[in-house]
Formats: sequence, C-alpha cells, structure tokens
Amino acid sequence: MIENFDAKLNEYAHLLVEIGVNVQPGQTVRLRSEVSCAPLARMCVEACYDRGAREVVLEWDDDFVFRQKFLRAEEDVFATYPSYEKARIDWYLERGAVDLSIGGSDPELLKGVDPARVQAYRRAAGNAFQEYSDALCANKFQWSCGAHPVPAWAKKVFPNLSEQEAMDALWDAIFSVCRITGDGKAVQRWREHIDTTARRCRMLNAYDFKSLHYTNSLGTDLTVQLPENHAWIGGSEKSAAGIEFVANIPTEEIFTAPRWDGVDGRAYGALPMSLDGNLVKDFYLDFKAGRIVGVHAGEGEDILRRSIDLDEGSHYLGEAALVPYDSPIRNKGILFYNTLFDENASCHLAFGSSYPTCVKGGADMSEDEQKAAGLNQSINHVDFMVGTADLSIVGTTHDGREVPVFVNGNFAF
Ligand code: ZN
Ligand code: ZN
Repeated sequence: MIENFDAKLNEYAHLLVEIGVNVQPGQTVRLRSEVSCAPLARMCVEACYDRGAREVVLEWDDDFVFRQKFLRAEEDVFATYPSYEKARIDWYLERGAVDLSIGGSDPELLKGVDPARVQAYRRAAGNAFQEYSDALCANKFQWSCGAHPVPAWAKKVFPNLSEQEAMDALWDAIFSVCRITGDGKAVQRWREHIDTTARRCRMLNAYDFKSLHYTNSLGTDLTVQLPENHAWIGGSEKSAAGIEFVANIPTEEIFTAPRWDGVDGRAYGALPMSLDGNLVKDFYLDFKAGRIVGVHAGEGEDILRRSIDLDEGSHYLGEAALVPYDSPIRNKGILFYNTLFDENASCHLAFGSSYPTCVKGGADMSEDEQKAAGLNQSINHVDFMVGTADLSIVGTTHDGREVPVFVNGNFAF
C-alpha cells in the first residue's frame, strides 16, 4: 500500500496537465492512455476541464490487444496504416489540439514477435503520422507524456518482489523522481526545477560550442560537431502560440542536435537499451562523417541493426543530451527499462530525427533547409545512454577555446 495514494495520483494528474501540457482555456485535448491507466486518465480529464479545456478526446490503447495483433493478425495488416487513423490525426492538427499521453507499456511487449512485422508496422505508422509527428517535434502544439506502472513493467524493474509489491515500488519511484509527495505542491517544485535548468541552458547557449568531445573509461571517444545557430533546450519549451509546456515528465535533460554529418569516433552504450520490447546490451556504435559505420552488441545486435536500417536518417544522430550523473533518477539506482526515465538518468545520444527547434528558426524551415542547417531527418528516434560516472565532455568554442562541460559525469558549471 502506498500512503496517500489518491492524493499523489491527483498531484500527478495536475502536474501532467498544468506543467506538462499546460492546457489553456478553449483548447482541445487529445489524451491517449492505456486501459489499465484509467484512474489517472480520468483525473487528467477532470484537471483539463478544470483548466477550461474545450473538449478532452480520449483514445484508449490496450497492450494485450496490441500484442495479439502482432502475433495473430494477417501479414498484410502491417504493411499499411488505416486511412481513418490518418483522418483522425488531421482532425487534431486542424484544431491545434494539445497532445497528452499516458502509457505504461510492458518493456517486453513485443518480445518473440517477428521483427519484420514490427519494422513494417513502424514504417507504415511512421509514414502515416509523418505530418503529425513533424508538427509535434516542431512544437506546433503543446505535448507531453507521463508514465504509469503496469504489472509486467513493475516486475521487470523489481523482479524479486511480488506483483503488488513491485507495482507499489514502481509507483513510489515514479512519484519520487517526479517530485510528488502528496502535499499538493509538485507544480510549485517543478517551476523551481525548470528555472535551474533554464540557467544552464543559457550558459551553454552563450558558449555556442563548435563541438563536444566525449570520453570515458568504457572506451567512448566521440567528437560531435554542433550546427551553427544550435540551441540547447531543457526544462520547458514553448509552442508555436508561445505557450510554455514540459514535453517529458520527469525531465532532467538539456539537449540539442548534433550536426548530422559531423560525428566521428566510437560511442559505447552505458546502459542496456529497450528497443521494440527487446533488450540490447553491451553495444557500441562507430561513426564516420556522421554516419553509423559499425554496430556491435553483446546481445540484441540484430534488433539494433534493424532499427538503424529503418531508413537512411536512422544512420545519423539527431540528439545530444546532457544529464548529470548525480540526478534524481540515476540516484534511485533503478533501471526503469523505459526511455522516459532512463534517458533522464544519463547523458544520451539518439539516432534518427532531431528536433527542429534545436536550430534557431528550424521549426519554420523546409526539410531541405533543415538538412542544410545540420538537422537530421528520419521516421525513427532512438535514445541510447552514454553517461557514466567518469564521463568527460570538453566543449570547443569557435575561437578554439576548450571548456570543460562535464567532469566526472556531472556539469562542470
Ligand atoms: Zn533526450
Ligand atoms: Zn531522445
């Protein structure tokens, strides 16, 4: 049993609605939730209407049904995406609807499923949703996502506990790293956290580094060039209409885009990666002029290669994110097997698409202009952790000065 559970759940709902998507009066809200997260989803619906939402449209997902489809549906189902789904997405786009999703998927949901089916599905869905995901990545509307424990996930994180104990332990961990205590003040604590992050962003932007050099004892030795006019983003962002929102709760990261053609060297994964319900362990990637030219994994190499082969853009980096080793999530000492959490426990990189807002004016550029500005494009975006307790990152400015950015895994300033 978790003390004050309902109060904490309600604090979480308010955090997602007020800090996460920051719903404004008159806005339409698209809320996606897995069926087992219904109590939290319903609290979010209430919180949205409390804020004056015009309408909250709920889309229920069901992990069980999703898995059954991959195991049992006919082959050709995966090659195309239903046209009515596209119509629904367009309806949201026309209204500039806010997008809030709550999920708690089993990290091994698609384990044992034919990887070719998953790849076909990802490609079809990626293409169908391209316009929507471009708009989302460009912050055309407020969006955010929150996590919710499900038994399979909880048992994965806490294998030695009973199902109920594991669920409670995972709830405790989520509440704690989201700064939720049950006193109703999480929203206030988050405003302070966002201010601290904003100060670091301003410093990084003032240095305007030409490149970053990552090294650690795992063997990482990677040079990442940054685009001209790159912007470091962290904490909150602004939508096209100027409304502040926090895309990920929790978030500890400050990120930008690498130059897609400016990455050289080797990057070792510091933590296992959960990819389409499978784990990839003990891996490294080699880069030459931005392109992934070598892939090695002790476990799950085939899965990793398939993800990189999804499209041309998956062969290049789209994100470089800084997270102190001494962060609330890493300090929990838990591997969450969930990117939303694990990426906030460690400095990470991502192959696949970059966020256009990582270059000034990028959100208003055409695809060609974005590419010329250094931004990568892909229907994929896969984060992998590179941060260790001994990670060093040295920034080089345009006038050749070398500035320590990370020393022993933490910010040098
Ligand atoms: Zn990130
Ligand atoms: Zn990412």
